[in-house]
Amino acid sequence: MAMDYPTGFYRDTWAEINLDHIKENVKSMKKLLPGDVKLFAVVKANGYGHGDIQAAGAALEAGADCLAVAFLDEALSLRQRGIEAPILVLGASRPEDAPLAASADITLTVFQVNWLEKALPCLQGKRLTFHVKLDTGMGRIGVREKDELLAIEKLAGREDAFELQGIYTHFATADELDDSYFREQLGRFREMLSWLGKVPEMVHTSNSAASLRFPEARFNAVRMGISMYGLTPSPEIEHELPFPLKEAFSLHARIVHVKKLQKGDKVSYGATYEAEGDEWIGTLPIGYADGWIRRLQGQEVLVNGSRVPIVGRICMDQCMIRLPYGVEPGTAATLIGAQGDSMISVNEIAAKLETINYEVTCMISSRVPRVYKQEEKTVDLNNPLLGKQGKL
Ligand SMILES: *Cc1c(COP(=O)(O)O)cnc(C)c1O
Repeated sequence: MAMDYPTGFYRDTWAEINLDHIKENVKSMKKLLPGDVKLFAVVKANGYGHGDIQAAGAALEAGADCLAVAFLDEALSLRQRGIEAPILVLGASRPEDAPLAASADITLTVFQVNWLEKALPCLQGKRLTFHVKLDTGMGRIGVREKDELLAIEKLAGREDAFELQGIYTHFATADELDDSYFREQLGRFREMLSWLGKVPEMVHTSNSAASLRFPEARFNAVRMGISMYGLTPSPEIEHELPFPLKEAFSLHARIVHVKKLQKGDKVSYGATYEAEGDEWIGTLPIGYADGWIRRLQGQEVLVNGSRVPIVGRICMDQCMIRLPYGVEPGTAATLIGAQGDSMISVNEIAAKLETINYEVTCMISSRVPRVYKQEEKTVDLNNPLLGKQGKL
């Protein structure tokens, strides 16, 4: 007979998400912005791996005005779980899904007049709210031509089925020290706005980097993604942040086995690691299927506040670390985050992988349960067995 067991909570690996830090980052941004500038909390990709509904809840509590996601599916999923705040879908949706978006009160992004023409007969009495996306130099999605922009404005003005609520663009280089391309894009955006008969109610261009650095690009809303999770948009601009960012993401696993190897004993697939003498080796229940990928071999983790290396190949579900002494199984290792005075930042992992911090939190897979911490207590949002693993 099928039985109903909660799953995902019986392994000693978890990501801890500090919702207080998300709230502080959002509050700091709100303080930086003039009162009439709205804040979109960007919670696409499961809140950059932090948990979409939890991040959305924290951000809204801290003063965010609206949410943004990449796909209609993500917006619908938030609505299904009770989120009532305005949601903007930043990516492309299908015209035949316009009535679904309209029914769920989800705002879509449009950048082709042809899209509106296809959506129109599908709407059948429903009214779709949308923002027009302009391509001012990102080369991804967006209107580039005057004729097309004016045709969109005209069609939206003529048909009750559409409400053109906003207009926006996205910067390609807002996180770089050289601001010349950013200035070009901003100029292009202003020029394109001037083509319109009437500028829509919401005008926004800034991601985190631009929101933090360029007041002249704030218009009347900003889209805060990476910085809401306490991560810097790029290492170059770390020194010019107007407020300290607090990292919300940390990753932990308990050592499940400890053994003493002798000189010549081998570790993991390929038997590529060989003990040089007596060595204590611990096993962690996390591997590449959790997003802790094989390229992280050699990366250090924190055990009792000290850095210890991952040795041998990382397996699908487990990896091994070399300990300075025999520690008790059950001891917590921190792969990302702080232990005592020691810290392994998301940026350190990104540097090791020659990628950006955005990719690191997104790549920790859904197999790793997220545990949510706020106001000094570990809050159980959906985990009946949280008490087992919630405390370090
Ligand atoms: C993801 C995204 C953002 C958020 O950018 P951050 O750099 O994470 O702040 C803003 N706007 C658009 C269009 C996006 O796709």
